[in-house]
Amino acid sequence: MNQQIREDNPHAGRELGGRELGGTPVVGGKAYGPVVRPGRRMTVEATEVAPPPVSEAERDAELSRFVAAAGVVAARLRERASHASGAAAEVLIATAGLAEDRGWIGAVSKLIGTGTPAPAAAVAATEQFAAMFTKLGGLMAERVTDLNDVRDRVVAEVLGQPEPGVPVPDEPSVLFADDLAPADTAGLDPELITALATRLGGPTSHTAIIARQLGIPCVVAVAELDVVSAGTAVLVDGAAGTIVVEPDPDRARADVEQSRREVEAIAGWTGPGHTADGHEVAILANVADGVSARAATASPVEGVGLFRTELAFLDRPDEPSLDEQAALYREVIEAFGGKKMVIRTLDAGSDKPLKFVDHGTEANPALGVRGNRIAATHPEIRAGQLDAIARAAEETGSTPWVMAPMIASAPEAAEFAAQVRRRGLVAGVMIEIPSAAILAPAIVAEVDFVSIGTNDLTQYTMAADRMSAELAELTDPWQPSVLALIAMVAEAGSRTGTPVGVCGEAAADPLLACVLVGLGVTSLSSAPAAAAAVGAKLAEVDLDRCRAAATAAVATAAPGAARAAAREALRC
Ligand code: PEP
Ligand code: MG
Repeated sequence: MNQQIREDNPHAGRELGGRELGGTPVVGGKAYGPVVRPGRRMTVEATEVAPPPVSEAERDAELSRFVAAAGVVAARLRERASHASGAAAEVLIATAGLAEDRGWIGAVSKLIGTGTPAPAAAVAATEQFAAMFTKLGGLMAERVTDLNDVRDRVVAEVLGQPEPGVPVPDEPSVLFADDLAPADTAGLDPELITALATRLGGPTSHTAIIARQLGIPCVVAVAELDVVSAGTAVLVDGAAGTIVVEPDPDRARADVEQSRREVEAIAGWTGPGHTADGHEVAILANVADGVSARAATASPVEGVGLFRTELAFLDRPDEPSLDEQAALYREVIEAFGGKKMVIRTLDAGSDKPLKFVDHGTEANPALGVRGNRIAATHPEIRAGQLDAIARAAEETGSTPWVMAPMIASAPEAAEFAAQVRRRGLVAGVMIEIPSAAILAPAIVAEVDFVSIGTNDLTQYTMAADRMSAELAELTDPWQPSVLALIAMVAEAGSRTGTPVGVCGEAAADPLLACVLVGLGVTSLSSAPAAAAAVGAKLAEVDLDRCRAAATAAVATAAPGAARAAAREALRC
């Protein structure tokens, strides 16, 4: 609780210019301005010196003072709610409810009944509840800030002090706080408070909810927030989760302007995908079943670049019948009604074992019998799936593209392509093993298209488990060795006019998307939510710039340098 009232400035005078603080990104966008902090809270001063007990004769009056103060605070919050809307109104009403919570008032009354003055009783009772909420964890723990806020408001009222809260700045400012209570944030004017940053709080805290509603950049859990004193100019980057202290003012203003243009462009981007000079790049969605496919149609995508069929069967104890499978594939094809549809055969094994495929015991499943390799041990499973896809294609009058995961060699690609073509479908393979990238010319010669799975390609190139948080730097698709392999595949594709897609998460990164296009990639498929940002970025740059960015990024020796080189070449 003491954190709540900590005054600004513990490190005043220390040289901080240019320093970058990191936190959890919550709402994207950039804002630049001086820091303001919520007003001083009186709670601790009111209670830290052991107060004289209330005499028995005065206890009823003390209790009445407390109950009246809680009522005033609740009424004020409700009044504010009546001028707000949406989430802001909801949180204000919920906070008003806390001020009149019978449990809390009961606990305070009990303490007043033993002679504790109202402010100290409010603090002690709140501590009991806060401990309980913290123990419950999750969303309940995040409500502790709300409870403390109600306590501070009621104590201020009891003491006749002004209501604590956010000051109204006279210029656009960035609000810093330990955490923000709903009553602080709900009334914020986004013209004056242009970004929020808190030392505590999580992505579901009220600060985050309100920031999302107001559409202002927000970073939470910034451990070092207290080193910055009020009045200091900062640049908040809500997407990166960073705060730069005293940045170069011209550069910061330019950054904010650029970010505003980007946000507008993303909101207005509706596809189809192309560079500024009209070079077409299909922007596609990764889906897992009918539900996700239908949801994806709400995004500005031109079709499906990766239908991960195994995800629909993860819980199945037995192999789905041909009818069941055909119905599923039809559902996904119909969601996109005749648009591009790339179906991947089961990528079973490793991180996605299927119960109906006997994977056996493998010491190293990521390098074991997974993906297309199960065709050797279970040929009937792959054949049944291809039959079901062919049936769905016939029933929908479409010709889906079908690709195999985990292909390492040209003979594997040729064998798969023959099976697919025999059924009248378009054949492709995924390139996610370095061997396949190195042998791209031979593999491309066997198929109608390829799609690079950058998640696995990075994992296998860097010999770094894609699930490992400790190895995140190694599993970065910006690793120049990964980019070099992608370049080899794209070149093989462009020599023969074979489409080369990327369907790993690399395709969701707008900057990397420009590099991929510069390398010669012809389509980008990822989580549908990323489509607009990727499409809008590509629409800003011409193909020559993308090519320059690709050349520059491949020539570096580390992911950070690759990003910087790409940014420089793209001038963004
Ligand atoms: C990949 O590896 O990049 C890919 C798209 O496949 P998955 O993520 O399903 O392994
Ligand atoms: Mg993969």
